[in-house]
Amino acid sequence: MILSEKHEMMRRLYRQFAETEFTTEILDALEETGEFNWEMHKKMSDNGFMGVKIPTEYGGQGGDSLAYVLMVEEFARVSPVLSLYANTSNSLGAGPLLFCGTKEQKEKYVTPVARGEKIMVFALTEPGAGSDAGSTLTTAVEDGDAYILNGRKTFISGAPFADYAVIYARTDMSQKGSRGLSMFIVDMKLPGVSVGKHENKMGIIGYPTSDIILENVRVPKSDLLGPLHKGFSTAMKTLDGGRLGVAAQSLGIAQGCLDESIRYAKERKQFGRPIANFQAISFMLADMATEIEAARELVYNTAVMKDAGSPESAKRCAMSKLFASEMCNRIAYKAVQIHGGYGYIKEYKVERFYRDARITTLYEGTSQVQQMVISGNILR
Ligand SMILES: Cc1cc2nc3c(=O)[nH]c(=O)nc-3n(C[C@H](O)[C@H](O)[C@H](O)COP(=O)(O)OP(=O)(O)OC[C@H]3O[C@@H](n4cnc5c(N)ncnc54)[C@H](O)[C@@H]3O)c2cc1C
Repeated sequence: MILSEKHEMMRRLYRQFAETEFTTEILDALEETGEFNWEMHKKMSDNGFMGVKIPTEYGGQGGDSLAYVLMVEEFARVSPVLSLYANTSNSLGAGPLLFCGTKEQKEKYVTPVARGEKIMVFALTEPGAGSDAGSTLTTAVEDGDAYILNGRKTFISGAPFADYAVIYARTDMSQKGSRGLSMFIVDMKLPGVSVGKHENKMGIIGYPTSDIILENVRVPKSDLLGPLHKGFSTAMKTLDGGRLGVAAQSLGIAQGCLDESIRYAKERKQFGRPIANFQAISFMLADMATEIEAARELVYNTAVMKDAGSPESAKRCAMSKLFASEMCNRIAYKAVQIHGGYGYIKEYKVERFYRDARITTLYEGTSQVQQMVISGNILR
């Protein structure tokens, strides 16, 4: 896709920010400590990145989905984990509220999220309800002017430091599966809310993930989000946007892998010449570049289609995530191969890319779930 001057300018801005601010020192500290970098969060917030795709009336930049995709891609090209910092607020964080929040809820919650003053996370997954989100066991029972929530959410990105969480709970106990679920905005400081241990992850280290435990949490009725018993369809709509974000993250990781591989292949000499001169290596690079371009076309076009309200959006978002995330893992594998033994050593960027790439086919719906969404659409 030929980008407009405006989008080209945005890409340059995001790239410059990532290349200047995501220093090796910062990236290594994230890996070593696993802690969230609040200073980086502030820098991103000051630059308006937390609200790139959030309307200006709620404190955001009012950008389109393509601008958001470009930001996530450029950030992930340098640091997949730091791309998550600005991704979450724009997609799963504010997403459900922008879809179906009241004006008051948007003003109260979305505006501080867009400015980076507060962090909102998305909590759908449970220990027994992953791909099968309809088997949610968390309950919300009406009690006067509130709902009482009980249950456990698992693998929630950002939970250990979040201010708010959008929680999915069953409100109609007579219904099974995807029916009878509702959404609640839960203040993480409410009595009865606690978080589990930080998961010790393979990659995206520096963006802590944990369980959220809800024990008789009294949530005011004003924090019911969207229509009662109809939370599942909003979750699915939110995930469409989120999937585009993961597709963009995958593009960035793949591009980072390719850039590193080209550089290394030109420098590294074996048998008296740069390894880039061996056809086995140069053809691998050619395949990597081609796959990335194919994924990029799909993802960028889907972003434009989504904003145009295309009825194909859900299918295209699932296709984008499926294709880009699987592609990204193939490319990360080849990048390590091109680096030989050095690709297995932590000093080399591709080692981290390889581990970070692995999450892209898993979260926000595994590749098999994307195949279910796509096949469900084309077989209708
Ligand atoms: C680091 C990390 C961050 C996360 N962040 C969040 C978050 O912020 N919020 C949130 O709500 N969740 C989050 N998740 C959860 C994530 O979305 C789930 O892990 C994912 O949806 C898969 O669920 P599961 O792990 O229970 O796997 P399962 O659903 O148990 O799947 C296991 C395997 O079975 C396959 N499978 C399952 N059902 C079918 C089927 N019908 N047909 C074919 N294959 C099938 C899957 O594709 C997979 O290969 C996160 C997970 C991780 C690891």
